[in-house]
Amino acid sequence: MYNHNPVFIPGPTNMPEALRRAVDMPTMDHRSAAFADILHPALDGVKKVLKTTAAEVFLFPSTGSGGWETALSNTLSKGDRVLAARNGMFSQKWIDMCERHGLDVTVVEVEWGGGIPADRFEEILTADKGHEIKAVLATHNETATGVVSDIAAVRGAMDAANHPALLFVDGVSSIGSMDFRMDEWAVDVAVTGSQKGFMLPAGLAIVGFSPKAMAALESATLPRWYFDVRDMKSNYAINGFPYTPPVGMINGVKIASEMLISEGLDNVFARHARIAEGVRKAIAAWNMDLCAISPELYSNSVSAIVTPEGFDANTIVSHASEKYGVAFGAGLGAVAGKVYRIGHLGSLSDVLALTGIATAEMCMVDLGLDIALGSGVAAAQEHYRTTA
Ligand SMILES: *Cc1c(COP(=O)(O)O)cnc(C)c1O
Repeated sequence: MYNHNPVFIPGPTNMPEALRRAVDMPTMDHRSAAFADILHPALDGVKKVLKTTAAEVFLFPSTGSGGWETALSNTLSKGDRVLAARNGMFSQKWIDMCERHGLDVTVVEVEWGGGIPADRFEEILTADKGHEIKAVLATHNETATGVVSDIAAVRGAMDAANHPALLFVDGVSSIGSMDFRMDEWAVDVAVTGSQKGFMLPAGLAIVGFSPKAMAALESATLPRWYFDVRDMKSNYAINGFPYTPPVGMINGVKIASEMLISEGLDNVFARHARIAEGVRKAIAAWNMDLCAISPELYSNSVSAIVTPEGFDANTIVSHASEKYGVAFGAGLGAVAGKVYRIGHLGSLSDVLALTGIATAEMCMVDLGLDIALGSGVAAAQEHYRTTA
């Protein structure tokens, strides 16, 4: 069913018309010079969005999850030890992927709603005198709980422990919507997908590899073929691709990067922060809590809202879809049925956000929650009206 409503799921995000047009391309010979004129600007655009000059960027026909696999399989070997925190569904899935690749994962368990405990990482890394830990995995924005973690603090912990492990960051729901600094934070592999901050359809894994990660390619022995960065790199050098590239999607990345850069990354982040704060003002007016346990963890791309004890949060999601044709995010994993999520990343404005808040409010009233119609909308209106 098609309707004109925006979606409020935390990816895929709403697509600007310019990007829908950008991905809609006639067939072209991907071995022609015309392809190079799409590929290289797309790669350069991603570098700007990642805030890196040192890293090399690769685009794989896949999704964010394929980006995780690209990070692991290109740099690690069976039995390697890696360190990760489990604080939600996405960090959990990445850990599961590590285990299925035969990696030895040291998991720090964190309450769902908490962030990555950099101090705990520092203790573990300091204790690892033999430098057995080869990589530290960090989910920048845990989309299941609406929690943003401090990657600078994770880097700080690694440096304080004087530890040489690689730093892999899942920025799937932060890159292009919240501040991300690949070079400054010395991130070795940055991972995202096309359907979140880049506002495109799903279909590409977007990864950045630091020089240190590139140096690990030769010694890593995990099996890889489709996601082998060496094949991508050697083909890019001759304006090609190791297999048939999704040209329209790559053109989408080129145009999406131009859009983000021309809006100004700082302005993009400020827009997300303002929209998110309006949503949080509405949630406060409803007398409800976020799953994120403290304000410095509040995500500017998604809010996970805790519903009252005994109430099935999923009913809000199904009711919104059936009655109003609006999509919200369901709770995942350990918080399934306990939270619902309002995604507020990508192509959104204050005015569009108000429609989502108003819809959530109608659903909650329809389903008998003790909320006054207009209360959340008014709180958000006041915020948007008075914030630049
Ligand atoms: C969406 C998401 C993923 C998974 O990406 P897919 O594109 O669905 O494979 C991974 N991590 C985070 C934080 C996400 O939000």
